[in-house]
Amino acid sequence: MIEKIQRIREEIEALKVSKSEDLEAIRIKYLSKKGEISQLFNDFRSVAADQKREVGKQLNELKERAVEKLNELKSEFEDTHSDEQNIDLTRTAYPIPMGSRHPLSLVKNEICDIFGRLGFSIAEGPEIEDDWHVFSALNFAEDHPARDMQDTFFIQRSPDILLRTHTSSVQTRTMEHAQPPIRIICPGRVYRNEAISYRAHCFFHQVEALYVDKNVSFADLKQALLYFAKEMFGSETQIRLRPSYFPFTEPSAEMDISCNICGGKGCAFCKHTGWVEILGCGMVDPNVLDACGIDSKVYSGYALGMGIERITNLKYKVKDLRMFSENDVRFLEKFESAH
Ligand SMILES: [Zn+2]
Repeated sequence: MIEKIQRIREEIEALKVSKSEDLEAIRIKYLSKKGEISQLFNDFRSVAADQKREVGKQLNELKERAVEKLNELKSEFEDTHSDEQNIDLTRTAYPIPMGSRHPLSLVKNEICDIFGRLGFSIAEGPEIEDDWHVFSALNFAEDHPARDMQDTFFIQRSPDILLRTHTSSVQTRTMEHAQPPIRIICPGRVYRNEAISYRAHCFFHQVEALYVDKNVSFADLKQALLYFAKEMFGSETQIRLRPSYFPFTEPSAEMDISCNICGGKGCAFCKHTGWVEILGCGMVDPNVLDACGIDSKVYSGYALGMGIERITNLKYKVKDLRMFSENDVRFLEKFESAH
């Protein structure tokens, strides 16, 4: 027995490891339940009573030494094989997977680029707004349904604080602090208290444009709209304006573009009309200019606004609006640029 302990002890002292698996192999060979040292403990029962004291002592020492040695080998191995010492500078870099821009960002950037070419600069504002910037300054009547709890998320403690329902609040803020000429485009997220479905969400994204200067006319608006439609949807695109109503513009219009699927002949997508509605627009109501400190007798302006989701749907034929906010990689990967 003593000889066996001696032999194992010598073996252990001579141990070396070259790969991490060796460490586990050593542990199994000597220290596991069926390992050699455990086996010795089993044999210990049959050691003669007068030798038990000496053998027991050596056996315990052996086990202690084995555990110690294993730890030594482990830290030695880690020292010599740590990452710092194992960097191979000549190795080819890992391929880094290319991400992709979100489709809404792609379209937003494109819209901003098109208006950028017309001289518009980007303006941004807070998503948590007050009643004045979202409604009152924009000529919303006290009893306008958009102020209703059904449509707007109000912050409970203060009915004056709300999540903006449109990016027109950025126009208000800009007009309050600047005098014409003002030529801005306001992209951003907006919130409405809507039931979530394939065609509506409680948040979506808008881009609005505002141009205020002397002698800005409806003809300027129409020309800007036509330019935008052709740049965005192709040079063959036609536009059509239909009279509409918004509190903050007078006159107001909705703009349709010729259906880019059937080319205006009529198909299921355009409900056989040949036209698809894409945005609202109009001449800025003089009340809005005055409320923001701009003299409506001197200046006039136009404004237009569109939902980025709507434009993205038209451009990429996305059927379900919820896809934009579900972070499904299979969907987002479709918008990867070529690389
Ligand atoms: Zn069509």
